[in-house]
Amino acid sequence: MTEHPLVAHPPTIAIDGPSASGKSTLARAVARTLGWVHADTGSLYRSIAYSLIRSGLEEAPDEIRCRHVLALGIRYVVQDGGTRVFLGDRDVSSELRTEEVGRLASSVSQLPCVREALLRTQRDLADKGHVVMDGRDIGTIILPEATLKVFLVADPKVRAERRRMELESNGVSLPLDAVLKEIQTRDSNDRNRALAPLVKAPDALELDNSRMTVEESVRWILERLPR
Ligand code: C5P
Repeated sequence: MTEHPLVAHPPTIAIDGPSASGKSTLARAVARTLGWVHADTGSLYRSIAYSLIRSGLEEAPDEIRCRHVLALGIRYVVQDGGTRVFLGDRDVSSELRTEEVGRLASSVSQLPCVREALLRTQRDLADKGHVVMDGRDIGTIILPEATLKVFLVADPKVRAERRRMELESNGVSLPLDAVLKEIQTRDSNDRNRALAPLVKAPDALELDNSRMTVEESVRWILERLPR
């Protein structure tokens, strides 16, 4: 009988969940508490959408958009316990949080060339370990060996209110109904796409944070992190 050596995987936490479930806020807080790095993977997809919009290619045929993506030079740069996204030499991180960019990110994230281009970027960062990564397919595709996998959910109305407040703090005022509709469309796109759909990994723990503070959610995760 062949014996398989035990492979030690560097410690990582995967947090997946639908839009505005509070993934990034929670992942950032967990990373800060542990002294790990937080990687928000949505910002990678958003950086592609941002660049396509700026280049007037949002409606271009897939082949042209894919060629554009391959030439972008997308990089994660770790800074102050978080990640910044660079396109070539340009840090675009603070330009990605608009609804227009989010909507196109959700649509381009269905292109195989986009997911392939970003797979390596995410794994390279996680290979170093001590990373809390949040997204849609972290526990299922990117880090199947994550130390702890969390699938974060929250009531759609709670999520819509959180997103509305986030938008308002960025100077954008939208009625709750419109935000809720946008979130539901995004959820449906992410759950029903053929490639890397938003789905709970079989070994992920589900956390409903609708009525929990960030501190309570952090504690919930730390209590379940194998040491
Ligand atoms: O999380 P955020 O809203 O920033 O993500 C924007 C879009 O990027 C999502 O709607 C989703 O379609 C896509 N995404 C993804 N896989 C990830 C992270 C984000 O497909 N790991």
